[in-house]
Amino acid sequence: MDFNSHADAIVRVAVGLVNELTPGERRGRAFPLPRDLVAAAAAGLRTGYPNHREVTEGEAGELAEIAARLRGVFDAVATGDVDAAALQVNGLLEETRARPLLDRHDGEPWHLHFHGPGGTMAGDWAASCATGLAIVLGSEFHDRLGVCTAPHCDRVYVDVSRNGTRRFCGTACQNRVKTAAFRARGRVP
Ligand SMILES: [Zn+2]
Repeated sequence: MDFNSHADAIVRVAVGLVNELTPGERRGRAFPLPRDLVAAAAAGLRTGYPNHREVTEGEAGELAEIAARLRGVFDAVATGDVDAAALQVNGLLEETRARPLLDRHDGEPWHLHFHGPGGTMAGDWAASCATGLAIVLGSEFHDRLGVCTAPHCDRVYVDVSRNGTRRFCGTACQNRVKTAAFRARGRVP
């Protein structure tokens, strides 16, 4: 699945921000709000943009607030409520007044960027992530946003597999569940 390579990167950033900046559980353990929000925010952005610059403390705080809003969209889709997800994304698009602009930098070809109203980095990412999720929800792949179904994990993912059968945030959780199933059957894997 390839909506458009730039939109794919934006959706990966949305996943990264939610997974690095929203508290909950990760791979079987409690995941509190990270103490080093600056490092966590940079890690989230680099999920989609490996060379993203460092972020400031203020930006990290703003990105954490945006991440909490984005999580709501993944949660709604995971429970089958695409209508609620669409309403939330529309709310974000309205608030950020997401504005498309063709941009070319760092030797890349022209590509679409989305800007928020304030000209801030976090605002631009809010507009971009809202647009990226809107592209997913408005496509035939609207059910491809998910929350990990392994026990004690609520990290999110976007399912880009051909048949759309992904259920876990990553191989660590997939293996955890497989191992538990083997044990339940009295076999050691
Ligand atoms: Zn997981």
